[in-house]
Amino acid sequence: MTKIGVLGLQGAVREHVRSIEACGAEALIVKKKEQLAEIDGLILPGGESTTMRRLINQYDFFEPLQQFGERGKPIFGTCAGLILLATEIVGQDNAHLQLMNMKVERNAFGRQKDSFEAKLHITGVAEDFQAVFIRAPFIVDVGNQVEVLARHNDAIVAAREGHYLCSAFHPELTEDDRLTQYFVNMVEESKKELAS
Ligand code: GLN
Repeated sequence: MTKIGVLGLQGAVREHVRSIEACGAEALIVKKKEQLAEIDGLILPGGESTTMRRLINQYDFFEPLQQFGERGKPIFGTCAGLILLATEIVGQDNAHLQLMNMKVERNAFGRQKDSFEAKLHITGVAEDFQAVFIRAPFIVDVGNQVEVLARHNDAIVAAREGHYLCSAFHPELTEDDRLTQYFVNMVEESKKELAS
């Protein structure tokens, strides 16, 4: 069975486990870098990106996570996880894992709109996806290999670059598992490719 990890250092971990299992895959909460060898794909959950980065360093996850992606294993970053994947963060000298070629802005919807919901058209996923945004970032700019999957007003809120996927919202907080299913399908395809 396809096994998908959720980085379990901080943030919305259990909700992703529920969603992965609802899609018929096996879920593993990853708390040690050695567990990366056991999984076919990984979700970087929402939470707080600076805290998550501190814990990634503390638990010696930084290079193993980069290598996991560079070996072709799919990674899905949601909200803070999207920030961790980006090559550039507005107003910061240093980005984090730098696996997805895009520039992101943190807390980009402003304080008045701390959290809100919106119905999105997500290419290849759904016409009417109820998306939950919580102190969400958005994507300001993408490299030319990045496919924009969804926008809210003009802001890019979901994208894919090869085996990397990200969303500015929290797909795990509703019962609508179609975006998680899309990622599970990506992982299943990559498993076949990596085995051939
Ligand atoms: N604002 C958070 C950050 O900058 C992300 C919020 C979230 O993951 N819900 O990391």
